[in-house]
Amino acid sequence: MAEVAQQLAEVRQRIAEACCESGRAPHEVELIAVSKTFPAESVLEAHQAGQLHFGESRLQEAEDKLASLPNGLDWHFIGRVQRNKVRRILPLFPIVHGVDSARLAAHMDRITGELGLRPEVFLQVNIGREQSKGGFEPDTIDGEMEEIAGLPNIRIRGLMCIPPVVSEAGDTRRWFAALRELRDGLTARHGIELPWLSMGMSNDYEQAILEGATHVRVGSAIFGKRSYRVDGELG
Ligand SMILES: *Cc1c(COP(=O)(O)O)cnc(C)c1O
Repeated sequence: MAEVAQQLAEVRQRIAEACCESGRAPHEVELIAVSKTFPAESVLEAHQAGQLHFGESRLQEAEDKLASLPNGLDWHFIGRVQRNKVRRILPLFPIVHGVDSARLAAHMDRITGELGLRPEVFLQVNIGREQSKGGFEPDTIDGEMEEIAGLPNIRIRGLMCIPPVVSEAGDTRRWFAALRELRDGLTARHGIELPWLSMGMSNDYEQAILEGATHVRVGSAIFGKRSYRVDGELG
């Protein structure tokens, strides 16, 4: 088996095991293969091995790559969403993970209406309350919820986080638990359904699944080590 197919199979196997351990069905967790920095050939290889959902974090790179790939793949935009790129992001990406402010949500909603689209989005939460990170703040998101949930065009489906970097493997789990608890609280207080949780990457997707992740974003464990960084984003 080619390397990507083999690593993909291993990740799927580990997802199934984590699902089993947490009493969930494997189909409850969507594996997003994060192909940023990797060529279209790698995406094709994964696709031929049955992978449907892919994630990209940089628009220009994604536009170039998608142009040479077949239709029918499900693309997730997982990077920072710049306001001036929304008009280009939305037609390519039916699912957007990084909606990080009420202002951006309103802007996206307006453009979405103009384009006649119905994207599904995650609200990104700065779960570790880190100075260096954007996103909704856990302490103030409540006050913004009604307004965002009332936007007519974008469909808010859940929360997403990129937790603080931890020194010990295993320490990330509490941040995943915190995101789930925040979600439960928002649903209880506002009656807003937020069924999806996008959390967990190559190093910690099993822990995320144990805490309720519905979408895991896994790159290097499938495609190998990245040879360059993307725009000051994650490795
Ligand atoms: C790059 C990236 C990932 C995947 O990271 P890996 O460690 O390679 O699995 C997941 N989420 C986001 C937002 C990313 O930028």
